[in-house]
Amino acid sequence: MGREEILKLSMTELAKAIREKKVTSEEAVCAVFENIDDRESIVHAYLSFYREESVRKARECDKMVRESADISALPPLLGVPVAIKDNLSLAGKKMTCGSKMLADYTAPYTATSVAKLEKSGAIVIGKTNMDEFGMGASTEHSYFGTTTHPMDKTRVPGGSSGGSAAAVACGEAFASLGTDTGGSVRQPAAFCGLIGLRPTYGSVSRHGLTAFSSSMDTIGPITRGSVDAAVLFNTVKGADPNDQTSVSAPKVDISAMESYSVRGKKIGIPKQLLGEGESSEVVKRAKTFFEEHGAQVEEIDMPILDFAVAIYYILSSAEASANLARYDGIRYGYRSSGVSDISELYTKTRTEGFGKEVKRRILLGNYVLSSEHFDDCYRQAERARNMVKKAFDEAFTKYDMLLCPTVPGVAPHIGEIDKDPLAAYIADLCTVPASLAGIPAVSVPFGTSAVTASDGEALPAAIQLMGPRFSEQEILGAARFVEKGVSGT
Ligand code: GLN
Repeated sequence: MGREEILKLSMTELAKAIREKKVTSEEAVCAVFENIDDRESIVHAYLSFYREESVRKARECDKMVRESADISALPPLLGVPVAIKDNLSLAGKKMTCGSKMLADYTAPYTATSVAKLEKSGAIVIGKTNMDEFGMGASTEHSYFGTTTHPMDKTRVPGGSSGGSAAAVACGEAFASLGTDTGGSVRQPAAFCGLIGLRPTYGSVSRHGLTAFSSSMDTIGPITRGSVDAAVLFNTVKGADPNDQTSVSAPKVDISAMESYSVRGKKIGIPKQLLGEGESSEVVKRAKTFFEEHGAQVEEIDMPILDFAVAIYYILSSAEASANLARYDGIRYGYRSSGVSDISELYTKTRTEGFGKEVKRRILLGNYVLSSEHFDDCYRQAERARNMVKKAFDEAFTKYDMLLCPTVPGVAPHIGEIDKDPLAAYIADLCTVPASLAGIPAVSVPFGTSAVTASDGEALPAAIQLMGPRFSEQEILGAARFVEKGVSGT
């Protein structure tokens, strides 16, 4: 197979082709790195990659295939090149979290999710760019410079897992892991025309993921199709003694996904998330599509969601300010020099080591946790979060799934977000509710937008499907149904 042909394969198709000796892992890894050579200087999806090591591992995989008497006994993702976000630990490799604070930090162990990925035979070829510590929605808050949108270098790919999305969309990896606290897997997937799954909170171990907002952090796949997302979810999920919040979640049955139909399903559209303009048009098109296929779709009222953005930013910033207290210049990471005492060391280290957005979150977090504001901000937000959870529980007694936009529009131009940070927070309206409730949500490509990239090509449009806890089977089944009906794949 030639490079172009290899790069057109999905992750699952490539895994099959390698096992069936139609292509070697080495060819796939080389195809990806040749593509990286061609595109990376503009896209900047990666913060580090391991070319020689990946080729060596690919050769070992190919040897396993050659010597195997029973290909069904081989690890399922053997020889497939994948990427991981740079806030996931991989032993012996740098993990920067997109921050100057950790620019020279090497992870001493491997994250559980990444270890599972490697055990499944996948080859982690590199680590992807991200907004500093996951705070942001464009990758522009990376200390190492922004990633650009794969279709338009004047736009961002979204964030904070923008590098993970851009790498997959560009053929610089066959799939990737991102992390989603308030939308960072779903939003860049939506901007880049990919599937992005935020799994049920706790279903994927957070051990080895650098904490941003521990009660909402999740690890999720960014892939070209829903089957790949299900396979990756099945690969990385599971209870882990190293993460006390982790639980064992049911495996997604791929053949049940293939035969899934929305016929007879009840789907709700929370009217607070519908918005205006193009994204609401996309949801209306999706409503028609689901109805034409036998689903019952109706708007529902969830008034508490009007407060979702405020609740999310209060709670996530409070948790972030506590989680980031560990970067003090003493234990690990960047340390400022020329200081005369310990307090100056803390101050200078944190002033120099953190970027603007991270400082904003620390200030907000400390404010809402301060004794003067704890009750009226943090406590209130906790209560309101419970109301969000209850509103979803109640909705799911009537509906199998909820449908809404993933994002209010298309990928912004570089520099746009910086002009109005509050507008960027508000743009998270549709992704943060699932984060607060701990429920799974998937962003699914749904045709194209009327807005075009600089070369005139239409940018991708997307919808989001949310389900109750552990409903990955249902929402990925529906995602597969949409893929077949909309893009015919
Ligand atoms: N844009 C959101 C934020 O900045 C989401 C980030 C995330 O999910 N990591 O907090």
